Amino acid sequence: MKLFDVYPLFPIEPVKATGSWLWDSEGKKYLDLYGGHAVISIGHNHPHFVEALKSQLDKISFYSNSVKNSMQEKLAEKLGELSGYPNHQFFLCNSGAEANENALKLASFITGRKKVIAFKKAFHGRTSGAVAATDNPKIVAPFNAGHDIIFLPLNDEKALAEAINKDIAAVIIEGIQGVGGIQLPDDSFLRFLSVQCKKVGALLILDEVQSGYGRSGKFFAHQYAGIEADLITIAKGMGNGFPVGGLLIHPDIKPWSGMLGTTFGGNYLACAATLSVLEVIEEEDLMTNAVILGNYWMEQLCSFASIQEVRGRGLMIGFDLPDSLANLRKDLLFKHHIFTGEAKPNTVRLLPSLALTRPEADILLEALSVELKKPALS
Ligand code: PMP
Repeated sequence: MKLFDVYPLFPIEPVKATGSWLWDSEGKKYLDLYGGHAVISIGHNHPHFVEALKSQLDKISFYSNSVKNSMQEKLAEKLGELSGYPNHQFFLCNSGAEANENALKLASFITGRKKVIAFKKAFHGRTSGAVAATDNPKIVAPFNAGHDIIFLPLNDEKALAEAINKDIAAVIIEGIQGVGGIQLPDDSFLRFLSVQCKKVGALLILDEVQSGYGRSGKFFAHQYAGIEADLITIAKGMGNGFPVGGLLIHPDIKPWSGMLGTTFGGNYLACAATLSVLEVIEEEDLMTNAVILGNYWMEQLCSFASIQEVRGRGLMIGFDLPDSLANLRKDLLFKHHIFTGEAKPNTVRLLPSLALTRPEADILLEALSVELKKPALS
């Protein structure tokens, strides 16, 4: 059987990894500033993470959500404490898209509405149809043919004020738009949005799948704006490579049996992985590290004349290049052995481990100074 050919692939096969480093099948070493798309949050194969998974495998790896699972409770407790959302409730699932599906579903259950406001260039996942193909009234929200989505430009208060009304179930927004090229919602826009949602009774969904779990230097990127969200979706960095997703749910949203569900979500291995990630973020003070190294990088990147714009917070950074430098990402990979991410057309995205070190950060700056012909470290 052939693989379904949907991914453009680099001809590199990573076979081993530790911290911010990868080795390919030919023994070549690479600096990983991409983290498999913001997934590697505490570093590849962090010893505490490996130990947590191994010792869990020695006990039990899976049973269903029909039995008590105190690991989920322990995880929820720790997540509440570190995230600044101790009173929200927690639902575990397996991916970012699934977390967003559940958030949209909950918004419709709670409001009885099906219209949703989303923002241009946002990315919330790749699912559609599973709920629409189900007629069990217990698991479909008050609609069964999907949501009506209204797309607005990011940071446009006027457009938002015109679009939001009492038909809107929810507004969904990324803490920082990732796939869209590291676009930041203005803090003032988030505050305006939060007030508008409250006014019309729409739920505010913060998609922190990419920008959450400490990546921005705060636990959630939207916390820079000082707002609270009704629903927050997480995945990616949560499991440091173990597939897991989740949903933080406002305390006023009352659950009922069967309202949401999942087979694999919250299994013992996912809980062990996710809890160990939180412990490392706390013990190694990785959010502070993300702020320090992120600020350092952004300052240095701004000093390259050929870099057009630098955007980001913490270790979620994007910089734009002119068309003449469209090959830079490939050059970084093949000439300098540095993995980075991209966003179309010419944005390079940096999403490294939050445990990145200053010497590792400098390797990128030195490679850029060679490619962009500027002395390193101004
Ligand atoms: N939301 C955001 C902001 C994302 O960046 C992504 C994945 N790129 C998703 C949701 C979907 O997550 P997953 O691929 O885990 O379903």
